[in-house]
Amino acid sequence: MKTAMWAALAAAAGLALVGPAGAQTPRAGGPETIRFTGAQWWTPQGFAGGDRYVRGGVFVAPTKGARVVDLAGAFVVPAFGEAHNHNLDTPELAKSVSDQYLANGVFYVKNPNSRAAFTPAARALLNRPDTVDAKFSMGGLTAEGGHPIRLYGFLSRFSGKEQPGEAFEGDAFHVIRTAADIEPALGKLQAQGAEFVKTYLLHSEQYDARKDDKAHYGMRGLDPKLYPAIVKAAHRRGLKVSVHIETAADFRLAVASGVDEINHLPGYMWASSDTAQTYTITPADAHAAARAGVVVVTTTVVTNGINLPPARKAQIKAVQTANLRLLQAAGVKLAIGSDNYMQTSRSEIENLAAMKVFDDATLLRLWVETPKVSIFPNRKVSCLDRGCEADFLALSADPTKDIAATKAIKAAWKDGAPLTLVPVQGSVIPGAPGGGGHVH
Ligand SMILES: [Zn+2]
Repeated sequence: MKTAMWAALAAAAGLALVGPAGAQTPRAGGPETIRFTGAQWWTPQGFAGGDRYVRGGVFVAPTKGARVVDLAGAFVVPAFGEAHNHNLDTPELAKSVSDQYLANGVFYVKNPNSRAAFTPAARALLNRPDTVDAKFSMGGLTAEGGHPIRLYGFLSRFSGKEQPGEAFEGDAFHVIRTAADIEPALGKLQAQGAEFVKTYLLHSEQYDARKDDKAHYGMRGLDPKLYPAIVKAAHRRGLKVSVHIETAADFRLAVASGVDEINHLPGYMWASSDTAQTYTITPADAHAAARAGVVVVTTTVVTNGINLPPARKAQIKAVQTANLRLLQAAGVKLAIGSDNYMQTSRSEIENLAAMKVFDDATLLRLWVETPKVSIFPNRKVSCLDRGCEADFLALSADPTKDIAATKAIKAAWKDGAPLTLVPVQGSVIPGAPGGGGHVH
C-alpha cells in the first residue's frame, strides 16, 4: 500500500524508484509543506528549539499555511549510518534486513565487499523512501590466496554447493597478481556497478614472507609495492578507495598511498605471538591520517565475536581504546561501522559505549555524522538545517545524556514522509542468533 503510494508519487514527479549504480536516490516527499513543532533539534553544539519546515523531502524556509505536526517534546536527530556491513548482500534478505536497520534508526549503509552476482538484485530493492539507502563496492581487490578468498570458500558451504574460494574470482573479489591486472580489474568493477573500490592489506610488513606460505592462505593481502598505483588508478576513474587493514604498518601504508577510508582499527584480532606494538598507531600516523582527510571506521565490536581468551580480548580493547583516543585527538574523521553481519551499527555504538572511549554526546555525533563522513559525502545528510534531507528520528529522551535514548524512537521520517518501523529483533537475519559474523 505504502509502496504503491510512493510509486504513484514518484511517477507523478517523473522519478524512477529504482536507479542504476550511482544514480541519485529519488527524492520523494509531496508538494505539501509540513511545519514540525514541539521538538528540540540536534546540532553539533547541542539541541535547539523552534519550528522546522519540510517540503519535497528537504528542510525549507518557514511557509504560511503549512500542515502542523506536533512532535510532543521529542528530541530530533538526523538518521544514523552503518559504515561497514555486508548483510545487505542478497535479494532474499535485503528487505527484512533493511527493515531492521530502519527500526534501529539507521537509514544509510555502506557495504565494502559484495558479490557482483547478487548485488544488482539486492540494490534494486533498496534506495527507496521506505528502505535504507545503500552503497556497494562489489568484489574487493586482493592478492593470490589473499583475504577474503578463503572466506568465500567457507561461506559457499551454506549455499548447498561447497566450492573453493577461487571459484568466486571476478565476482566476490578480483586478484591483482601484477601491475598489469590493475586496469582490467577496475574496468570490470566499474562495469559491474561498483560505487567505490575495496582493497585488502593484511600484515603488509610481512608480505614477502606470507605471499607463498600455505599457512597464511586467506591471511594476506595486496603487494605493498603495487598498492600506491592501485589507489591512484582508482582515483583516476573517480572511484574512492577503502581498505581492510590488520596492523599499524598496514594503516601507515594505506595513508601514505592516499586511501580515502580505512575499514577497521588495527588489531581487531591478534595472532598468538603478536604484541600491542604491532597494532598501536603512532602519533605521526594519526596526524598523517588527519592531514590526508582519511576516514577511519571503528568496527571494535567484531572482536567480541572472535573466540579469544579473555586476557587477550582485554589487551585488544586497551589498544583499540588508545588508538581511538589518539585518532580523535589528532582530528581524524571517525565513522561508526560494525562489520557485524547479524546486527546493525547499533551493536558498535553499544560496544563503544561499554568501552567508555567517548562521552554520550560525542558518540551520538559520530553516529549522526557517519552518513556525511563515510557513506554519502555528496548528499545533504547528517543535518537538520534548511536544504538538508528530511531523514530524521524523533526520540522520547535526550540521547546526549544517555545514548540508550537512541532506542526510544517515537517516530521516524525519511524523504520527508513518516516511516512505519517494524519491531527490533535479536538479529537482523531472520532465525539467526545475535552477534558474530565474518570479518571482511
Ligand atoms: Zn567487512
